Amino acid sequence: MRHFKNHTHYTYFLMRISPSLSMSPIMSSGSATGSGSLMWFRKGLRIHDNPALEYASKGSTFVYPVFVIDPHYMEPDPTAFSPGSTLAGLNRIRFLLESLVDLDLSLKKLGSRLLVLKGEPSEVVIRCLKQWNVKKLCFEYDTDPYYQALDMKVKNYASSAGIEVFSPVSHTLFNPADIIQKNGGKPPLSYQSFLKLAGQPSWASSPLSVSLSSLPPVGDIGSCEISEVPTVRELGYEDYEQDELTPFRGGESEALKRLKESISNKEWVANFEKPKGDPSAYVKPATTVLSPYLKFGCLSSRHFYQCLTDVYKNVKKHTVPPVSLVGQLLWRDFFYTAAFGTPNFDQMKSNRICKQIPWNNDDELLAAWREARTGFPWIDAIMVQLRKWGWMHHLARHCVACFLTRGDLFIHWEKGRDVFERLLIDSDWAINNGNWLWLSCSSFFYQYHRIYSPISFGKKYDPNGNYIRHFLPILKDMPKEYIYEPWTAPLSIQKKSKCVIGIDYPKPVVSHDSASKECKRKLAEAYALNQKLNGQVSEDDLKTLRRKLEGDENQESGSKRQRQNPTDLS
Ligand code: FAD
Repeated sequence: MRHFKNHTHYTYFLMRISPSLSMSPIMSSGSATGSGSLMWFRKGLRIHDNPALEYASKGSTFVYPVFVIDPHYMEPDPTAFSPGSTLAGLNRIRFLLESLVDLDLSLKKLGSRLLVLKGEPSEVVIRCLKQWNVKKLCFEYDTDPYYQALDMKVKNYASSAGIEVFSPVSHTLFNPADIIQKNGGKPPLSYQSFLKLAGQPSWASSPLSVSLSSLPPVGDIGSCEISEVPTVRELGYEDYEQDELTPFRGGESEALKRLKESISNKEWVANFEKPKGDPSAYVKPATTVLSPYLKFGCLSSRHFYQCLTDVYKNVKKHTVPPVSLVGQLLWRDFFYTAAFGTPNFDQMKSNRICKQIPWNNDDELLAAWREARTGFPWIDAIMVQLRKWGWMHHLARHCVACFLTRGDLFIHWEKGRDVFERLLIDSDWAINNGNWLWLSCSSFFYQYHRIYSPISFGKKYDPNGNYIRHFLPILKDMPKEYIYEPWTAPLSIQKKSKCVIGIDYPKPVVSHDSASKECKRKLAEAYALNQKLNGQVSEDDLKTLRRKLEGDENQESGSKRQRQNPTDLS
């Protein structure tokens, strides 16, 4: 990575890499006299609809646009189960870097640039505030616990130093705190009650600022160590397989291009009906794939919302929430609000909206799921798409999350959440946890007897198994009759398809029929316990229930053996 310890070197570098920047405003002197703002980018990696950036530039002589690379988030961790850092898979890291490069280019067009620094973000920002002549600190408000803690430290310093802090809500359609307040201090836990409380966004029909014509120059950076946006190789990722990388490129330009493509088909937007999409469509996904752009704020959800309502105004009929595209954005806000208003939202323990369930601890089954080795091609293909693309259709996510938890393996939703959190390029703290709570029937949704079949569900959409053939090429020659259940194919067919089950591709890790029955039985008992104890289930209560369920299971399999082998009784 290229570092610049002082102003002289930095100026030299700018002139060397880009002659057009030789007159860059960054070289202006005298920043000690004007009034400067620090614009701290974290998410919100965009120019359009960015009220923090707008405020930072208003009346300021200088603006310092800063992004801090947190090594914890970005640097390689060779012990992790996939290429990437301790917290993020390489696909998401690369997506972020691409988004930063794009942001830097856009800032340059406006007469500024991105200042990339490295270290623990709050320490770095405080150091900059101390060194630079800054009167205003601006950053987008963030409800994630990680940012809440970070922002508290920075805000405390800023107010002690007399620096104004401007931190507007612009990542979501609504301010989660307002909705919680309207609901008497608690977040609404159903989508319909959320809609009622939320109503129309206050800005729905006023124009958002979608473009800026220029920005004040960057002030003197003193002795701060600034770098260009690093490449993945510069971060230390030397050996990675190119074909493991997501086809989706990061950045605001790409986000706006994708948005334009999506909304140009007015009929598609007007008729969008979420559960009806095809989860196996991979050449042209059935939904917008705007989630990674919304996650990093390369796309403003408010701009997206206004574009959709503009389309609605020009069509005779359109779908409505919860199934419409606007409805999807409202799901996003729903989970943000629930997450913000629920302590310990990301765990089962001490989470008042989460049912206490004695999930199994089975590392081998978990690894089989994570590594696409369950023996159910539909499930494994989805898990390969997750690893390679970092994105899957919503219903595909439903299938694998249900399979891991309440459908088949009865493994803790937190374990599945962790795998998604690492590998998704759109991994989002509130949405990911909210959906795992939902899919595991731990909160929001409680119909645990409704289980996705890992065999017949995918078949409905893709009877030929093209999706499976694409993501699991070992099965590409399996006849369509067997592609969802290859273990049922006669050995001669397995051999002819060059895929012998148990050798080239695993046998199923469970029998779906009996595993799903077991899961339902366990959930029925867990729900009864939660009800009896009014949600106050202690760890001891859970242990006792786990022992009982295991006892029942042993008895059940014992009596099954007896039924199958009555002569063994003698
Ligand atoms: P579209 O259908 O085009 O929807 C547009 C936008 O609406 C999305 O980009 C997203 O921001 C929002 N949205 C859509 N569905 C949901 C939903 N169910 N909940 C909240 N917001 C929604 N989405 C994430 O963005 N990050 C995650 O970490 C994430 N984890 C998930 C985990 C599980 C177990 C499940 C079942 C779903 C998860 N989702 C997550 C929700 C959803 O699957 C994705 O948002 C969606 O598939 C993204 O594709 P899209 O942009 O094409 O969606």
